[in-house]
Formats: sequence, C-alpha cells, structure tokens
Amino acid sequence: MPAIVGVTCGDAFLERSAEGVPNRPHAALKQDYLDAVARAGAIPLVVSPEATPATDLVVSRIDGLMLVGGLDVDPANYGEAVLNDTVDPSPQRDALELALLQSALSRRVPILAICRGHQLLNVARGGTLWQDLPTQRPDGLGHSQRGDPHSAGHVVQIAGGSLLHRIVGSERLDTNSFHHQAVRRLGQNLRPTARTSDGLVEALEDPTHRFVLGVQWHPEEMLNHPQHRALFAAFVQAVEEQAGGETR
Ligand code: MN
Repeated sequence: MPAIVGVTCGDAFLERSAEGVPNRPHAALKQDYLDAVARAGAIPLVVSPEATPATDLVVSRIDGLMLVGGLDVDPANYGEAVLNDTVDPSPQRDALELALLQSALSRRVPILAICRGHQLLNVARGGTLWQDLPTQRPDGLGHSQRGDPHSAGHVVQIAGGSLLHRIVGSERLDTNSFHHQAVRRLGQNLRPTARTSDGLVEALEDPTHRFVLGVQWHPEEMLNHPQHRALFAAFVQAVEEQAGGETR
C-alpha cells in the first residue's frame, strides 16, 4: 500500500473569466510538487486552508508532510512589522501550515519543507527571517535568479554528517534560487546544514528527528538532476517507514 504525503495547497489566484462574468478564486498548486512525490512512489494528498480547524486529524491520516513554496510568512509570526511593499504575507497559509507543522512534529511524521516551508519551519521554532534580501543584505548573492528554473542559480555548501549530506552524497550542490526572504535568526533545535557563499542558510534540519528537512531552493523543479531526485526518494523512504511502523 503506497504511503500518503500531505502537500499543502498553494496560494489561491483569481481566474480570468469571460467578459461580464466575475473572476473567481481558484486554489492552485504547482504540478511539479505533485509529480515529485508521485515519481518517488507516494500518493500526494493536497491539504487546503479549510483543514485548519482539523490539522491534528489530517496529520493522523497522512504518513508524511510536505510544505511548499508561495507567498511570504507574515512577519507578525516572528514579532516584526512588515518591512516594505515587497513583503506579501499569506496569513491563511501560515495558520494552516503552522498547525500542520506542530502536529507533524509532535507525531514525528517526516517533514520536507520547501522554500516558504523552510522559512516557516524556522519561524515555528522561534526563529526570524530576512524580510527582503535586496534591501537588508544588498551585498549578498542574487537569490532571485532569472531564466530557467530547472538550472542552477548558485552553489550551496553542505555540512558533513548531516541528513542532507547523506542524501546528496557531496559537500557542494548546484541549486536554483527563487526567494527574496531567508532564515535570519535560527529557530530552536535546528541545524543549518547548507549555506551559500554569502552565509545564507539554505537548508535546516532537526537532528533529533528521523526526517525533518527544510530546503530554501526548489528541488521539485530540478528532477532531471539525480541529487535533487534523491531528496524526494529519501523523504518518501522515511515516509514509508513511518507508514509501516504505525499500527493502523
Ligand atoms: Mn538562494
């Protein structure tokens, strides 16, 4: 029986309707996320903000949790005001995903947190974010690459002995980069396990869990590279072990 991975829904958008018909909001999720989970052998199950009142029930019925990219984490969650108009908070997703995270952490369900998810993992543990890298760290690398999302925008250096290092099997990894925010002060019990040359945290792990991994880049867009495919394979393997180890 395949394992089930809860995948959070992306941000809603307004469909452009025909003239005279009002635009209607659509829930949306980049197909790459679903493909990445399915190709690794698990069933992706989309979890929308309507599940917020029942996140513990949802987490009791999934074997793994994947948080995906999207709009910004509301700075109110780490005690700051919005820095400038580049910051585009998504409070509905914050509420859903913070509750899912808390439940998944307490049930020790494997977690893969991508981009916004990686940042949210840090905030959930009491950490803070750079709200806008070009404003607050103007001398850093460019983290909003232009052009092909399937190709690398920068290199990350991976810490030896980390889960990430075991998965990708090297100390350097070419990754894409599509973020204007990033981890600033580290959350509790999180280990930074990848950094770019400007010192930015590009991966986080909780070493006390079997699989709690945040990555700032988008591995779901780099499935043509074996090391990025390996991330989903390792995640789904941990998810399958979780599914097999539970009494149902
Ligand atoms: Mn980056």
